[in-house]
Amino acid sequence: MLYQRSSQLFVEAEQVIPGGVNSPVRAFKAVGGTPIFMKRAQGAYLFDEDDNRYIDYINSWGPMILGHAHPAVVDAVVKRTQLGTSFGTPTALETQIAQLAVSMVPNIDKIRFVNSGTEACMSAVRLARGFTNRDKIIKFSGCYHGHSDSFLIQAGSGASTFGTPNSPGVTAGTAKDTLLARYNDLNHVTELIQANPEQIAAIIIEPVAGNMGCVPPAEGFLEGLRSLCDQHGILLIFDEVMTGFRLAKGGAQELYNIKADIVAFGKVIGGGLPVGAFAARAEIMNHLAPIGPVYQAGTLSGNPLAMAAGLAMLQSLNEDVDIFKRLDQKTAYLEAGIHKIMQARQIDYTINRVGSMISVHFDAAPVVDFQTAARGDNPRFKKFFHGLLQGGVYIAPSAYETWFITDALTYDDLDFTLNAIQKVSETL
Ligand SMILES: *Cc1c(COP(=O)(O)O)cnc(C)c1O
Repeated sequence: MLYQRSSQLFVEAEQVIPGGVNSPVRAFKAVGGTPIFMKRAQGAYLFDEDDNRYIDYINSWGPMILGHAHPAVVDAVVKRTQLGTSFGTPTALETQIAQLAVSMVPNIDKIRFVNSGTEACMSAVRLARGFTNRDKIIKFSGCYHGHSDSFLIQAGSGASTFGTPNSPGVTAGTAKDTLLARYNDLNHVTELIQANPEQIAAIIIEPVAGNMGCVPPAEGFLEGLRSLCDQHGILLIFDEVMTGFRLAKGGAQELYNIKADIVAFGKVIGGGLPVGAFAARAEIMNHLAPIGPVYQAGTLSGNPLAMAAGLAMLQSLNEDVDIFKRLDQKTAYLEAGIHKIMQARQIDYTINRVGSMISVHFDAAPVVDFQTAARGDNPRFKKFFHGLLQGGVYIAPSAYETWFITDALTYDDLDFTLNAIQKVSETL
């Protein structure tokens, strides 16, 4: 494939946009090479500025679960656009999508819409702090909750139980309120709670981690967190920005039958427009302004175009009784095919999968947390990525990302993908 126009566009973009991109992972820094500029997308396919076609396994990092340019979503947005694009007043549409979301997701009475997953997680944590009158939170290494200050934290050194900033610009003052725990390690969480008695407002977690590749919760791990939270008056925040409306109608809460206290959403809930949301039972949500003391706001929050796209998306998912089963089956087919190829080639690998979240790690040992995820063979992943790209298959340009499966994929597309993987496996 040739990328002449993409390369030219990247040179131009770099002049006026830092690194040429508006979000760092798009920049191909982890895999090398020049990012590809897309022109359009339809169903399971992306088409770039040089008119190359790719089967898309990023799907805008999750939202396009029904495929690109889905007619229900496109129609809804086009119709709404003609009525005006933003009012800064309430609209009936917001209540409609809120009612639907509350009916689909367990354990929530009220929901507030924001503009991104970052905002949703940031606001969920503020709400938890306001509700509990405590300052500290526990997050897990390798979990991503957006780029707000409290989450850009790495584990402190040695015996210190508090985190340290992992980006310049995050203050030590902020970092000291975020404690880092190892994913799937209940003992570590217990230790942190004991070292900070009655100071922890919330534990925030991706119930299935998707930002260190896919890392499922170990048997009993989420249940253990739930009971620790109950014992210590801590709120359990499920960051379902990736898992929500993907693993099941009711997300990971439904799949694992665990009640979270606050749930954050993004990605699928916006149907490809910039939307996030957070939700909880009424007792907690009523702490929010304007009825409660915890401030939270947004000029474009609940924007009619975004709500129209989100509503069309949620309606489509809600009405399709087989959608999550179909997604699971397609992903299982892909998984089985990759197992066969890797085993035949005797490549060291691990595949993690929950429903339509899947990732291939180039290491034979189980991947259960950030440390084990980081052991993957990165040079091999780079080859894998670029080989697939050349073969017309677009996976995320980082070994730390989940593949996102869309219902628009046909079994022919999956076979095409497996063929491309077969070919690239011969070069690994
Ligand atoms: C993508 C993601 C976010 C951040 O959402 P943005 O819309 O990019 O701000 C937060 N949490 C999880 C689990 C995510 O996957």
